[in-house]
Amino acid sequence: MNISEVPCKSILTRSSGYLTTVCSHSINPYMGCGLGRSLCGVGCYVRSNGWVTRGREWGGFLEVKTNAAEVYGATCEGERRWAQRKNRPFSIFLSSSTEPWQPAEKKYRVTRRLLEAMCLHPPDELILQTHSCRILEDIETISTLNGRTRLRVHMSIETDCENLQGLPRHAFSVSERIGAVNTLAGAGICVVVCLAPLLPLHDPQQFFSDIKNAGARAVVVDHFMEGDGTPTGARTLKTELPAKMAAILPESTGLAYRNSIADIALQFLPTGISNSGFAGHYRTG
Ligand code: SF4
Repeated sequence: MNISEVPCKSILTRSSGYLTTVCSHSINPYMGCGLGRSLCGVGCYVRSNGWVTRGREWGGFLEVKTNAAEVYGATCEGERRWAQRKNRPFSIFLSSSTEPWQPAEKKYRVTRRLLEAMCLHPPDELILQTHSCRILEDIETISTLNGRTRLRVHMSIETDCENLQGLPRHAFSVSERIGAVNTLAGAGICVVVCLAPLLPLHDPQQFFSDIKNAGARAVVVDHFMEGDGTPTGARTLKTELPAKMAAILPESTGLAYRNSIADIALQFLPTGISNSGFAGHYRTG
């Protein structure tokens, strides 16, 4: 892993494209991702973003925005006013193209210091999107923020299978992540489980029952078709993920699979689909 410290000039990115309906801004404390060589990295929507990778291997580089918290503090009120002029809440998605609690966070604590800065200057809404159980290291700060902004944690758990043949291991096991959901929910934090991207499930009824029992408030089902920022899954189709999914469960590569899984999820929890779900819009059964 090639890690470099790269101070940033701005940290609040005004939403565009598929994020426009979800939030007013996104924050990425890192460029690149230290989980890129684990299972989620195989079909990661960011790996085909040439602006981020600039030809570098996904999972092989990381830029650390060491001054992110200071830049947030200096610019957040101006960005809040920008959102207000657009008649929308100042809502932040952290993160859209990296993992806030990746291994390097233990050393650099960029995400932790950002959350501390948000305690002083809370946004109207904050969505914490993660694959990582290390979010629990910041549960106290998140609990403080929970009283100051509309906050929800999106925990990505794409499958109920601890191993999927032909694919690398999860960075954090399914059971560890369900345990993290339980701990966060027990602290009064709104947790939404995101199957993003949806991978083959072994026993969906049991999975959604387990998630519900852990305290999740909702589920988002996001298939790479329609979910990877292209209408036809073009980004993901360039990766090896669809072929690996098809080898495990042929129907899992089609939208009919997403719809059937969403119908099962709905028997247990409010359920959203792709962008609309990430924006907090759910169907109830
Ligand atoms: S943790 Fe998120 S950003 Fe990192 S490789 Fe996995 S899906 Fe991509």
